[in-house]
Amino acid sequence: MIERLDVPSDAAAWCAEQRRSDRSLGFVPTMGALHRGHLALVERALTENERVIVSVFVNPLQFNNARDLERYPRDLEADAALLELAGCHMVFTGSLEGFFPGQLDDTGGLPVQRLLEPGPAARGLEGEFRPGHFAGVATIVDRLFEVTQPARAYFGAKDYQQCLVIKNVARNRGGPQVVVCETAREASGLALSSRNALLDDAGRVAGLFIARALGQARQAWSDGERGPDGLCAVLRGALAGSGLEVEYAEVRDPERWSAERPQQPLERAVALIAAKAGAVRLIDNRVLA
Ligand code: AMP
Repeated sequence: MIERLDVPSDAAAWCAEQRRSDRSLGFVPTMGALHRGHLALVERALTENERVIVSVFVNPLQFNNARDLERYPRDLEADAALLELAGCHMVFTGSLEGFFPGQLDDTGGLPVQRLLEPGPAARGLEGEFRPGHFAGVATIVDRLFEVTQPARAYFGAKDYQQCLVIKNVARNRGGPQVVVCETAREASGLALSSRNALLDDAGRVAGLFIARALGQARQAWSDGERGPDGLCAVLRGALAGSGLEVEYAEVRDPERWSAERPQQPLERAVALIAAKAGAVRLIDNRVLA
């Protein structure tokens, strides 16, 4: 039977008890509305740890758009049932006050001076289009690591820039080991996302252009294209006529993150896209080499 805890301090006590018994802890932070992509992280964690824990918390600190926060799908009962079936040992949730007791201001938010500086990987792309997002992510993930103190934590490559930010958080804390797992996709190529539940039929069709554009960039790389502008032109061309509102379609050197598009031909590249299908914001990426 999965343990369900609603208060972060109870989760901290549960995790401490596991560590006292020398059981290795694998941790998967989520915002719930779980799908096969989340469950793949749990399955990987189960192969590498004696106990696996999942947090389900729609973190208000990382939403720069109140409507997006309000519309974000939530179904804790269904999530707990899926996690139990998957063999997860503990799931916990909490409120902002529960995570940061006594630290909230009169508006119920966390004062800006308490937000973590998310580091250089937060610059550009998601950091530009979602101001404050990565400070919110870094702050809650740091707190979640403090609560759970796991040996390993599992994240999805779908959120490429987030993984870079989180590796920085873990480095600054001295752990845990950050394990990045590949993006789970629908047969159509569309990356699984909790927000996909909000897509209408037209949005689903439009969303398919994203994975297709990334595939075309991959092909261009295989054909020898190394120029950032050329690769971005391939992405843009493949998204034209999709009906998507493209926020960015860019390439970066994964080992030398830069806020701006690199100017020189690349030796390694990741292509990254963010686009809106109606009100639903979708992101995806593909390592080209
Ligand atoms: P979220 O609930 O969207 O905050 O995601 C929780 C974790 O699941 C993050 O590490 C995500 O990167 C990861 N994740 C979300 N979608 C996918 C996917 N399609 N494949 C793999 N991991 C994913």
